[in-house]
Amino acid sequence: MGLDITTLRVTFGAVAVTLFVLFYLVSYRQTRSAYSGWWCAAIAFIFVGTIGYLLDGTPQQVWANPLANAVLVAGTVSVWAGARTLRTTRPAVVQLAAAPLLTLLASAVDDPATNTWSGGPVFLGMMALTIGLASWELWHLPASYRRVQAPLAVASGLLALLYLARCIVFLAVGQDGYVFTTYFGSATSTLVTMLLLVVVAFSAAALSAEQVASALRIRADRDALTGLLNRSGFLDVARLQTDRLARAEHPGTLILADLDFFKAVNDTYGHAAGDAVLQAFAESATTTVRSTDIVGRYGGEEFIFLLPGATVSRSEDVARSISMALRTYGAAPGLEMPTVSYGITAIEASDYDLMAAIASADRALYAAKAGGRDRAVPAPRIDRSTEAVAAEAREAGRLGSQ
Ligand code: GH3
Ligand code: MG
Ligand code: MG
Repeated sequence: MGLDITTLRVTFGAVAVTLFVLFYLVSYRQTRSAYSGWWCAAIAFIFVGTIGYLLDGTPQQVWANPLANAVLVAGTVSVWAGARTLRTTRPAVVQLAAAPLLTLLASAVDDPATNTWSGGPVFLGMMALTIGLASWELWHLPASYRRVQAPLAVASGLLALLYLARCIVFLAVGQDGYVFTTYFGSATSTLVTMLLLVVVAFSAAALSAEQVASALRIRADRDALTGLLNRSGFLDVARLQTDRLARAEHPGTLILADLDFFKAVNDTYGHAAGDAVLQAFAESATTTVRSTDIVGRYGGEEFIFLLPGATVSRSEDVARSISMALRTYGAAPGLEMPTVSYGITAIEASDYDLMAAIASADRALYAAKAGGRDRAVPAPRIDRSTEAVAAEAREAGRLGSQ
């Protein structure tokens, strides 16, 4: 197959630039998510690396060839990093830099002025390793992502195998060996890498579509009276945050708010006035919290808040500010706004559990009511180790009495 490698590389460059622009506009600009940022970086690196090989055969080859190898590996490392941001933490800078730097070093000492395959086995091995890691990460994504990411996981798995095979054949027959140049040479890999880029872009577009769909779903999950999320809407959005919050250093707080003696408002001023008070509370709440906080109507005259990154003491301030805003809210002349009780709980970083947090905030709310209303009560901090010891003791006692 007489594929002209220069033409292929130029074609590849054009495809990569087009994909980069589309990807940047469609996915990154809209979502600003870490994974789409990494995948933008991946496309840019893979483009620059591939174009770098066009300098082979010129006096620039001496620096361009090792650099192109390293930049290409940086591209596949970025795919891996992007996949990791969907699952766990960001990889450390050392981890990210190690593979490209090793490749650069191996290529630089392998006669790059004349050798177009400088550092060949290290380059091919690093490509196989990093693409393989990306594939592994993609396979182990949470179920919500898996359907969308499956094509990408399979494609990168196959590509990792291809690079592994290239590495082995390179070591076995050398860069001029018939099998290597015919089946595992640059033309084949340029074509295959082009396919991978298309799959990356496809998956990113699918993810964007998934995000749009969930945004629509959220719209259907609004409470008609207050415009806030209703209970199931709040729970959906809060769960979407679960992964992100669970890995953060300060996951945040959850607040349950309940209007005090609200039934008396209805009884005194009528149901319509009661509705207006609920709307006033919703507006006081949404204008007080940050745009990243989530507010929902949990039911009746009860409201729920998820404050990512907030401490309990900041949440107490937020509660006070909401009550103040409600008190001074100009609803209707002669209508006195009710006070509000709040139960606040810190979300545990170690084992983030939304329902447990709600139950804990609910107990704190009950304490706020019992303590005289019009106040914010933080839930007692649960010391996990003490709790575990107590549970073990209970378990031992139960077994002992059998
Ligand atoms: P507490 O301080 O103990 O919370 O007393 P409360 O009167 O606020 O609590 P209670 O649960 O006795 O009453 C809640 C009232 O909220 C009863 C119900 O009619 C009213 N309510 C629930 N949903 C709405 C609504 O959408 N509009 C109006 N106007 N009232 C509502
Ligand atoms: Mg209530
Ligand atoms: Mg109430």
